[in-house]
This record gives sequence, structure tokens and C-alpha cells, in this order.
Amino acid sequence: GVNFKGLLKRNWLLIATVLSVLLGISLGVVVREYASLSHLHKQYFGFPGEILMRMLKLVILPLIISSMITGVAALDSEVSGKIGLRAVIYYFSTTIIAVILGIILVMTIKPGVSQTTEHIDRAGTTPNVTTPCECNSDVVKCDCLHQYKTKRKELEPPKVPVDTTTIPPLTTTIMAANITKNYKIIGTYSDGINVLGLIVFCVAFGLVIGKMGEKGRILLEFFDALNEATMKLVQIIMCYMPVGILFLIAAKIIEVEDWEIFRKMGLYMVTVLSGLAIHATVCLPLIFFIIVRKNPYTFTLGMAQALVTALMISSSSATLPVTFRCAEENNRIDKRITRFVLPVGATINMDGTALYEAVAAIFIAQLNDYTLDVGQIVTISITATVASIGAAGVPNAGLVTMVIVLTAVGLPASDVTLIVAVDWLLDRFRTMINVLGDAYGAGIVQKLSKRELERMDLTSDVDVANP
Ligand code: ASP
Repeated sequence: GVNFKGLLKRNWLLIATVLSVLLGISLGVVVREYASLSHLHKQYFGFPGEILMRMLKLVILPLIISSMITGVAALDSEVSGKIGLRAVIYYFSTTIIAVILGIILVMTIKPGVSQTTEHIDRAGTTPNVTTPCECNSDVVKCDCLHQYKTKRKELEPPKVPVDTTTIPPLTTTIMAANITKNYKIIGTYSDGINVLGLIVFCVAFGLVIGKMGEKGRILLEFFDALNEATMKLVQIIMCYMPVGILFLIAAKIIEVEDWEIFRKMGLYMVTVLSGLAIHATVCLPLIFFIIVRKNPYTFTLGMAQALVTALMISSSSATLPVTFRCAEENNRIDKRITRFVLPVGATINMDGTALYEAVAAIFIAQLNDYTLDVGQIVTISITATVASIGAAGVPNAGLVTMVIVLTAVGLPASDVTLIVAVDWLLDRFRTMINVLGDAYGAGIVQKLSKRELERMDLTSDVDVANP
């Protein structure tokens, strides 16, 4: 029969995490319903979750430094170049697929176009709820305009929570990869770490160490030990995870002010969520299966802990420690690949964010009654891809880079305020898909690099990445 005990033992953390999500949601709903907490009490409530976030963020720095440097140094520069190229091709093509999927969905579902039976009746056509407003007779035009205005008004938030003046332009994103300014590796982004700059530095440093001979080897061993120690720390942090997550989600539910907005934004959210779901269950698995020839859903299951974490903390970067563990322990991906592909992926490969940006931009165009031509749709695809690359792996980053997409097609940048209220929820789901995309990428790049890896196994006497 099924070994229930073994199954439980192997997956206790995942089971505990999922239970804590459910418990946290219930706790949040109950407290919200029956207790009115003061601001201070709410803060206390969020405290255990905040601790989890801080612990995860704490290990990102040593984790990225040690994994990137050893990852690059352990491969010779030719092999790391090849692996890097494969990873970039994967990132780029899957992001484009996600964008196209999002555009197809938002153009079909049309969540921003008003539709009621009433004015279609008046236009004299057969009542058909699924036909969107045509706006071709004057009467209907009035109606459409009126409905559009009411719909916009319904969605219009009372105040402007997004500070659009701090949005980094594309050049700033590129400059962030250049760390020479004041040698500031840490502390460029408000959230703490300039991951992109850090990665560029570590790749360069790793390449140099790899070419240094005996002395380089000492450094390599040092960073390898650092990596091992950090992962041990991660293991301990993960034991605390169920507690942290319970309070994180409960505190969020207590804090959300406007639940009504979800009903109003329903169709838009359905569009984004179904796009993410299709990408995660059809597109990515198909590509994985074609290349790797293994069951993609087993692979997804192996990543479950990382996916739940991403869903709960909305940050690819802060999920990185868990992504590493799942990819290496459950899915048995070679460390030489994960160390290289995962940190870079967490920073620049964001399929979920790209899909979301494309859907959101076209949704806003629909709300504005703004017809997009083919050129503008192509512009949206390109800028959504760029905006997803530019977004840091931190909560709500995609909302900020959204402005790149809006301004590129002439929509008012301030219209991001229309979608702000639901972003905390969509952010979680797109982050989950971002993390899944990174993991699949590692699996696919490993398969494509099999020959190089095997050759290295034969030629090198010490194998730092896999002792
Ligand atoms: N929160 C996302 C991430 O960390 C980025 C985004 O806001 O889309 O992957």
C-alpha cells in the first residue's frame, strides 16, 4: 500500500506550510470580523510574518554572492558562456510567449469594455450579453461613454498611492547593472540589494577566480563553504516558515480595506489569473516536456514549497533560498546549473510579470476607450518584456515598471492607480509564475548542457559544485 508515514515525513514542511496558509486566512477573516484592532495591535499581528521576511532577505546576499561566484568559477568560461546564452534564450522566449498569451486573452475577454444588455437592446440588435458595446450609433455612443465613465469612476481610487516620480527609466535599469558608481553593490534599490549589479559583479569575479590557478582555488573553496553554510541557515529558517506565513497572510487579510473592488475588477483579475494559469500548466510544461522528456507536473510538484512561498511573500528574490532548495533537493538539478540560472532568473526572468503588464496595459486602454492599432500592440509586447526584465524581484515592482508600457503607447501613466487596489493579490500569483519559470529554466538548461557537464565531470579532479 501507500507509505503514508513516509509521505508525511518527507513532505511535513510543505503540509505544514499549506495548513498555515489556510489557518492564516481563517484567522484573518475571524479577527477582521470580530475584533477591531488598533494600529499598534495590527503591527504586533504582522510581526511574526515580518520576521520571516527579514530572515529570508538576510540570506539573499550571501546566497547570491556565494552561488554566483562558485557557479561561474566552477565552469570554464566557454561552458559558462554557453550556459548563459541558453538561459537567456529560454528567458526571452518564454517571456514573449507569456506576453502573447496575455494579449490574446485580454483582447478576447475584453475586461475593460463596458457591456450590458440594456444598450444593446436600444441599438436594436438581438440581446446578447457577450457582445461588447459597439458604439456605432450616437445613442449607443452616449451610453457607452456614460458607462465607461461610471466604470472608471467606480474604479477610481480616492487617493494616489503610487509615486510615479520615483519610477526608474530604462537607462537607470541598465545603469543598475553597472556597479562602479561609488562601488555601491548594496543599497541602490530602496528594498536593500541591487541584485542586478551584484550579479554582474559576481560573474566577473567568478570568471577571474576561475582563471587564477591555486590561489583562485582557495577563494573558490571559501565561497563554496559560504554557500553551504548559507543553505544550512536557510534550512533552519524554513522550519519557522509555517509560523511566519500564518501571520503574514492573516495580517494582510486584516489590513485590506476595500474588498468590494475585487467584484468590480473581477473580469480583469480573471483575465490575468487565467493567463498565469495557462502559462504555468500548459505553455511551460509543454516546452519542458519537449526538451527534457520528463513529467513536467512532477517537476512542478517538486517546486511546491517555493511556489507557496512566492505566493505568500510576493518576491522572487526573497523566495530564492527556497527555490534553490526545491530545485536541488527535490528536482535534482545540478548545482552548477542552479547557481548560475536561478539568481539571474529571479532578477530578469519574469513571465508572470510580463503577462500581467501586457494585460493591464490593454485593460487600461479599454477603460479609456482607446483603440490600439497593430503597431501599438507590438509596442506593448516589447515594452512589457522590457518592463518585466527591469522589474526587481520585490513586491509590486511590476506595478512600478508598468509606467514604461503605458507611456510607450501614449496612455496616461497615472492610470496605474486604476489597478493599484488589486495589485497585492495579482502580485502574489505573478510572482509564483515568475519563480516557476525560473525553475523550469534551470531544468531545461541542465538538459541542454548535459554534454558539457558530463565532459567536465570527466576532466576535473575536484568537483566543487558537487562534492
Ligand atoms: N513581485 C514580483 C516578483 O518578485 C515582481 C512584480 O511585481 O511583478 O517576482
